[in-house]
Amino acid sequence: MPSSPFIIVAIDGGAASGKSSSSKILAERFNLLHVDTGSFYRGVTAELLRRGVAASDLPAVHAAAAQLGFGTRLAGRSAVMEIGGRVIPDAEIRSKLVNDHVSHFAAIPEVRTALLSYQRGLAGFAREQNFRGVVMEGRDIGSVIFPDADFRFFLHADPAERARRRAQEGGQDSITERDRIDSSRKTAPLACPNGALSIDTTHVGIEQVVQLMADTIATKIGPA
Ligand code: C5P
Repeated sequence: MPSSPFIIVAIDGGAASGKSSSSKILAERFNLLHVDTGSFYRGVTAELLRRGVAASDLPAVHAAAAQLGFGTRLAGRSAVMEIGGRVIPDAEIRSKLVNDHVSHFAAIPEVRTALLSYQRGLAGFAREQNFRGVVMEGRDIGSVIFPDADFRFFLHADPAERARRRAQEGGQDSITERDRIDSSRKTAPLACPNGALSIDTTHVGIEQVVQLMADTIATKIGPA
């Protein structure tokens, strides 16, 4: 019996488009390492703010971003990023302060460069930990991080529906403003990568979205 192939699944989309829920379920079903790259940008933002670095002070951002030491811990099937050996608590990376600043830091090419090889390296981490592959969610996974991913999905939904979902989660988050900044930046903008399967999740339950993705994966590698 040939051993099952290692697979990379890229899921991109705007805030509250359904990426996190669907990627966590796929990780369970197919034994994949789940990687939420939004949490990495949030962690870097929280750390730079803690050091008193403003996104407008580019020389300070460049200097600080180049020497952040990243590490990884596992929480269930999810990769959790350490910065300088420390995991930044969820309450901090999901705070209003970070919501308000993260897209400004994420638009800076040096910040993206600092995270690029770390994110790619998580495929090796997943192999070491005996996962069958990686499901990575973000804004530029299918376009920049893993353009040759085995499966690339792009999720989108009406802004009103996404705002409703985020409000239901209880967070204070101006997702329209974040999407505007993320879509209009020069480096790695939020967009459906060429050749990715685009899925409108506005009127579709998460189970159906996951089933569509799982069927697509299964046609190539067999059932979960
Ligand atoms: O996914 P989440 O909404 O938590 O991401 C927070 C922010 O991180 C996004 O609004 C975006 O500015 C940035 N991000 C990014 N590229 C990624 C993932 C997130 O620029 N791959």
